[in-house]
Amino acid sequence: MLQEATVILKHFFYLALNYRPMEFSSKLLENAVAEMSQLPGIGKRTALRLVLHLLKQPEDQTTALSEALTMMRNEINFCKNCHNISDTALCEICANHNRNERLVCVVEDIRDVMAIENTSQFRGHYHVLGGKISPMDGIGPGDLTIHSLVEKVKSGTIDELIFALSSTMEGDTTNFYIFKQIEPYNILTTTIARGIAVGDELEYADEVTLGRSILNRIPFENSLKST
Ligand SMILES: [Zn+2]
Repeated sequence: MLQEATVILKHFFYLALNYRPMEFSSKLLENAVAEMSQLPGIGKRTALRLVLHLLKQPEDQTTALSEALTMMRNEINFCKNCHNISDTALCEICANHNRNERLVCVVEDIRDVMAIENTSQFRGHYHVLGGKISPMDGIGPGDLTIHSLVEKVKSGTIDELIFALSSTMEGDTTNFYIFKQIEPYNILTTTIARGIAVGDELEYADEVTLGRSILNRIPFENSLKST
C-alpha cells in the first residue's frame, strides 16, 4: 500500500517538474490559440495546429471565415414560433402553408430538425426546446422554451405533440416534465418509436430508422409502461 502511494507520489512530482506551459513567440498567436481552444473537443495543441493551418491559407480565406462567424453571430434569428435558428422572423417550415401546424414535433435543437427533415417523413411543425432538462449541468425547465410550448397547447392550436428527444435519462425527464404540464389540456401526446438505440443521440441515427420511428410513433403513456 505504502509502495503504491510512493509510486503515485513519484509520478505526480515527475509530472509537476516536467510540466511546461505552451510558450508562444507571439501574443497574437497566443490569443488566437486561446480563443480556438474554447471550442468543444479542441485542446491547446489542436487549437495551435488549426491556427497555424489558417495562417498558411490565403488571407481572403481566413477573412471569409471570420466574417461568416461575425455575421452569423450578429444577424442570426430564432423563429418566433418554433425557436429554430432562422434568417427570418418566421422560419421556412413555420411559414410553409402546406405543413400541418396542428401537429408539432418537440426536439432538442436544430440538428434534430435537420435529421428529421432529411427523412422526408414529417410534414408538421417543430418546437425546438434549446436543450434538455439536466440538473447535473444546471439546466432547468426555465432555461428551455417549455413555457411557450405549454402556452401554445393552452391556446388550442395543437392537436398532437410528438416527443422526439433522445432516449437518454435527460430526454425522458424532459418528456415527462412537459407531459405533466400539458396533461390537463387533453391533446394527443405521442413519442417516436424506440427504433433508436437507447442512449444514442438523434442526430447520428440513420434516415431509415429515424423515418420509421416517426411513422410508428406511439402514445406517450405506452412508453411509460414499457420502461
Ligand atoms: Zn419556425
